[in-house]
Amino acid sequence: MPFRARIANGKPLGKEADAAAVKRRALELGADLAGIASAATLNAFPPDPRWPQTPERILPSIKSVIVLVQRIPAGAFRAVSNVPVQYMDMLVLRKMDKVAYRLADELERAGHPTFVTAAQETDWSLKRASYGRLSTRHLGVEAGLGTLGLEVNILTPEFGPRVYLTGILSELELEPDQRITEQVCIGESCSRCLHSCPPNAVLHWGIDKRGCATEAQEFGFMTMLQFMERVIDAPPEKRSAMLKTRDLFGFWQGLLRVVGSFGDCPRCLAVCPVGNDYHAHLAEVHKHIPERTPEKEQIQQRWREARKQGEPIAGLSEWNARWVGPEGYKGIVARQLQEFKRQQKERSGDLPEAAHSGGD
Ligand code: SF4
Ligand code: SF4
Repeated sequence: MPFRARIANGKPLGKEADAAAVKRRALELGADLAGIASAATLNAFPPDPRWPQTPERILPSIKSVIVLVQRIPAGAFRAVSNVPVQYMDMLVLRKMDKVAYRLADELERAGHPTFVTAAQETDWSLKRASYGRLSTRHLGVEAGLGTLGLEVNILTPEFGPRVYLTGILSELELEPDQRITEQVCIGESCSRCLHSCPPNAVLHWGIDKRGCATEAQEFGFMTMLQFMERVIDAPPEKRSAMLKTRDLFGFWQGLLRVVGSFGDCPRCLAVCPVGNDYHAHLAEVHKHIPERTPEKEQIQQRWREARKQGEPIAGLSEWNARWVGPEGYKGIVARQLQEFKRQQKERSGDLPEAAHSGGD
């Protein structure tokens, strides 16, 4: 089982560390969730076999990938502008890197060669645009921490898609966790990510990465290249003025604080109704989706029909269904909401605690 509860204190890992000890230590160090994926499984099931994101391409002797999840606190998703989420993203990534580094360092000191991969990186020998040496969302699924949603973000039952993940590669053999086989995403009948997406980049279990980048990476690498090309091509007398634009300020801010260069658009994360953080802090403020249009409703209708009729859907092919949840949606969000409401009532004193202590 992946580890999913907060744990405090504890000692550094020793030579005999097993899977349970490693996950417990990850939570002690500050991770919100921790799971383990087998490198052999990751090597056998690359997300896209044409461009394999596998541990063996990094180091063939890797046996296990320890996957950490850090949640993005929900409060920032309530803000009227995107800026607080962008800043929180940077803080969360910093914290996650520190936790992962500590865990890797402890394992290595205990005698097991171990290192951390960059959570957000691009391997240009595979593809241009954002395409890392490992796909952290697929690592998360293989480590039993969630499943992919309609917009192909990983959805954890606890925090929906409002998370970052990283992978720690170790030559220590650790018992892997089991994948979640039911679909965590509600699917076509929900489609709130589709409705909220400003550039309409959410596809049917897929994403138009270029479309998404126009909002999510306003000051990302490709925008920076295009800006430089425009400056080079401009007549000399205009160049000076071009350097004093909002564009250049955006790049500077992105380099300094990540703001604008990555994860600029939090809309599909903010409206996704999976996770107790959504029920507690976001449901009311994001009930209404202002970007919803009749055209998007028609798309949703088409998708519902295609799924019902069993039409071929690339994102749900036999290969891809592994990460979406081959059993389909079985009501995990409804169950979670029911339990959340029960606990709320219990806390407010409406229900006597004793009456529920033997629940499921
Ligand atoms: S991050 Fe924004 S632009 Fe990208 S898919 Fe989500 S809602 Fe659409
Ligand atoms: S918003 Fe709905 S359809 Fe989109 S990922 Fe979340 S649960 Fe799935």
